[in-house]
Amino acid sequence: MTTTRTAVVTGAARGIGAGVAKRLAEDGFAVAVIDLDEAACKPVVEQIEAAGGKALAVGLDVSDEQAVQAGVARIAEGLGAPAVLVNNAGVIRDNLLFKMSAADWDTVMAVHLRGSFLMTRAVQGYMTEAGWGRIVNLSSTSALGNRGQANYAAAKAGIQGFTKTLALELGRFGVTANAIAPGFIETEMTAETARRIGMDFEDFKRAAASQIPVARTGKPEDIAHAVSFFAGEGAGFVSGQVLYVAGGPKA
Ligand code: NAD
Repeated sequence: MTTTRTAVVTGAARGIGAGVAKRLAEDGFAVAVIDLDEAACKPVVEQIEAAGGKALAVGLDVSDEQAVQAGVARIAEGLGAPAVLVNNAGVIRDNLLFKMSAADWDTVMAVHLRGSFLMTRAVQGYMTEAGWGRIVNLSSTSALGNRGQANYAAAKAGIQGFTKTLALELGRFGVTANAIAPGFIETEMTAETARRIGMDFEDFKRAAASQIPVARTGKPEDIAHAVSFFAGEGAGFVSGQVLYVAGGPKA
């Protein structure tokens, strides 16, 4: 009997998370599609099922401790013990520092940092018990500093320290942890930035592409490909790394 491993992807109703969920399903994982609104996860689940895969829609807020515990238990019961976790859920609350509210600081920290912590803590027991696990956390090129994103840059740099610590603590149990730091990816998040600065999205993408060595902006599939590598059987000796997927070098 072949057993299907279960992958959990947060923020997977759209954008990068949806791309990752579909790719991991193609790779043979049963996929838990987590997002705030369960109904919004359904189209991704239906696409996975239509392609012959197995998936489950789970509505929860990753920053809610009880909801995370209950959601992960439901996934383990309904799909199988989580073997892969992709901490992808994210929000932006951009503003220059002097205009940034404490609420906007807290929201960004809650989703990216507290959310990744709670999700990882909830799934790690299944992974260590199985002696196999893959954790992939979404950082960003903004971790290197980005004007108007003091909250987001701090959270995404924090994700890198979190990832390296997971690699140190969980390695002996066959669990790897790596971070992917995307550059400009075409999603609702970058469309929102364009709206905020009053720019047409196509013009915004063109301007971004002119600064990118491969001369184009990224797509969710570009990130999904990197996640697929880290989640794979063969990547067991790669841990604690930060991979910039940005169409060119970043330091
Ligand atoms: P997106 O806004 O299109 O999707 C994010 C998803 O996360 C949404 O479906 C949203 O509902 C969900 N989400 C938000 N808060 C949540 C919560 N508390 N609990 C559960 N789900 C929640 O964004 P995206 O561009 O697909 O970004 C995905 C990840 O990649 C984020 O972590 C983002 O910071 C990171 N990232 C994106 C880019 C980019 O250019 N788009 C670049 C670097 C990093």
